[in-house]
Amino acid sequence: MNELEVYPLIAKVALDLPLRVLFDYTLNAEGPMPQQGMRVRVPFGEQTKVGVIAACATESGVPVHKLKRVTAILDNKPCVSEAILRLCQWAAEYYHASLGMVLAGALPKRLRLGEAMPEITAPILNNETDFLRTAGHDLNTEQKNAVDNIVASLGQFKTFVLDGITGSGKTEVYLQAIACALQQSLQVLVLVPEIGLTPQMIARFTDRFSVPIALMHSKLTEKQRLNHWLSAASGEARIVIGTRSSVWALMPQLGLIIVDEAHDASYKQQDGVQYSARDVAVQRAYQSDIPVVLGSATHSLETLYNVIQNRFSPLVLRERAGTARLGQFKVLDIRNERVEEGISRRLLQEIAIRVQRGEQTLLFLNRRGFSPILICHHCGWVVPCSHCDSYMTLHLSPERLHCHHCDRVRKKPRECLNCRSDVLMPVGLGTERIESVLSKAFPNTEVLRIDRDTTRKKGSLEIYLKAIEDTQHLILVGTQMLAKGHHFPNVTLVGIIDADSGLFSSEFRATEHLAQLIVQVAGRAGRAEKPGEIWIQTRHPEHPLFNILLEKGYHAFANHILEERQAAQLAPYSYMAIIRVRGRKPEMLKAVLTGAKKSMATALSATVHCLGPAPSPMEKRDKTYHYQLLLWSYQRSVLHQALKQLSDFLSTNKQARTLRWSVDVDPYDTF
Ligand code: ADP
Ligand code: ZN
Ligand code: ZN
Repeated sequence: MNELEVYPLIAKVALDLPLRVLFDYTLNAEGPMPQQGMRVRVPFGEQTKVGVIAACATESGVPVHKLKRVTAILDNKPCVSEAILRLCQWAAEYYHASLGMVLAGALPKRLRLGEAMPEITAPILNNETDFLRTAGHDLNTEQKNAVDNIVASLGQFKTFVLDGITGSGKTEVYLQAIACALQQSLQVLVLVPEIGLTPQMIARFTDRFSVPIALMHSKLTEKQRLNHWLSAASGEARIVIGTRSSVWALMPQLGLIIVDEAHDASYKQQDGVQYSARDVAVQRAYQSDIPVVLGSATHSLETLYNVIQNRFSPLVLRERAGTARLGQFKVLDIRNERVEEGISRRLLQEIAIRVQRGEQTLLFLNRRGFSPILICHHCGWVVPCSHCDSYMTLHLSPERLHCHHCDRVRKKPRECLNCRSDVLMPVGLGTERIESVLSKAFPNTEVLRIDRDTTRKKGSLEIYLKAIEDTQHLILVGTQMLAKGHHFPNVTLVGIIDADSGLFSSEFRATEHLAQLIVQVAGRAGRAEKPGEIWIQTRHPEHPLFNILLEKGYHAFANHILEERQAAQLAPYSYMAIIRVRGRKPEMLKAVLTGAKKSMATALSATVHCLGPAPSPMEKRDKTYHYQLLLWSYQRSVLHQALKQLSDFLSTNKQARTLRWSVDVDPYDTF
């Protein structure tokens, strides 16, 4: 008798759905032997779906007669390797996400939709060492030390923090460490920020190495994406360079991971599974027992804290390798200055001088993460929350000030409580507004605006970057997008328009991000013979950011904010998570979150703190309301217990099931 009839084999299938469970299906005795990591087609309600077998079992919580059958096994060999499945399982658990959604993000769309996987034959590895087209520079002592350390760790887990300003030779360190890894027949994964995958960056790799390189980024067609993925999966591509989601790329001989500009915001996925590719990369290195290198001039406080705790190993580049030079800082006190839609007259004069000389000006403005606050134009007073160590956020409909930490609301004051001036201004401008002011002030000069909105079209950013390099426009307005990965030799003036909203934001990372922005842009502008100036507009020239950051540097400033974070019990001193819900009825959102908070009662004790329910900084977006709970704890395990209880509650609660909700572990911002 066929045993399978008595005990049918059961596939536990991960489906691309927000439900945080696996779905059980019985498996036909015929067909290929089912294995973990193979894709299957299964019936789901009225439809069929493609999922991945997470496990095979001989039991199920569901009675056998109620189980449906797998319609088809789509692969002969697992499409998701054991290593990737394990990484995805870790991420699903850590980020309280559905495994199916994590896996969906790890596969090219065509495979996700069930297209047959082309046969991949492993390439014949030749042991030739002529994969180098050019030898590269002779390294300076610090660079050599960095490369030696990384290479000595090939074959074991270690997290390196490569710390050096723009032009200090970090990329050269990556390239020479990669050369050694290639020599040992290892594959290398290089993660870059969304903006970082420029033709210049790719050229540095293709000029150096003759090995096949796979590129993975959002601008590829689905066909290209599949081909590059297959090339990495087969081992043909020896190097993969890609943005966030390439951290999941299947690479059977992976031996080294590089995360360039590791502080960059684009590594954090903000919707769906809210993972940090930087953190997943470290976990991947750990699971694979290989080294990972995080490189930046302005590492995140989390990373620096891990160095302090001896969990990560620092590699510092202090000497400058190239010819780049840091620009000169000018803190522009705009109290009582005439300010036209955010730009002071003084800054306009400086721009005019550059325009006359045919030099470029770059104005930076950051919207995301800088929430609007109310500031006195005469003395710089910012409306504080009397219950919290924070500032009140301005809301417009209805007009009020709201504290996002304790939910306290107050009327907008009519005058400054410090100097009695009645000129209280909202800070928080948009690039479009700035663009229009500049166009009016300089009618004969075309202003180029670069932000997410103007660079949606494929290839448009590359065109803009080329245009800037060729000095086609003299005035540029942009968001943080422009702060990394590029060097603009003809830009001699950089203006940071809105420093105050970074200094006094209710966003806990705002000051850190402002400091990173300032240091990053300082490395962008000018060249040896034409040094750049960086003008920072503020009503708080005495703020420690300026005297510590500009006089003592980023590290001193990072230590300063670390102390503040410690006092305020914020990350990296505590572990944080935000639970967000959205829907049409604010009352219901509040009720659901109140219920969710109660559901955690056993975990919520002195060891897990919970703030809220409170409206999100941008409470109403597109007719939808957003509410949230903020959780933090000194113990990660306790926080995760609480999150588990909470996601169980939200998964089963009747009201919650009609809403959209998400868990954001290690949030990047509180939006
Ligand atoms: P980063 O990645 O830190 O910005 P790069 O690696 O791009 O720095 O180096 C900056 C410039 O200096 C590049 O043009 C690079 O080719 C050059 N460079 C790097 N290392 C050396 C070296 N050891 N000797 C001479 N030039 C170097
Ligand atoms: Zn408050
Ligand atoms: Zn005032």
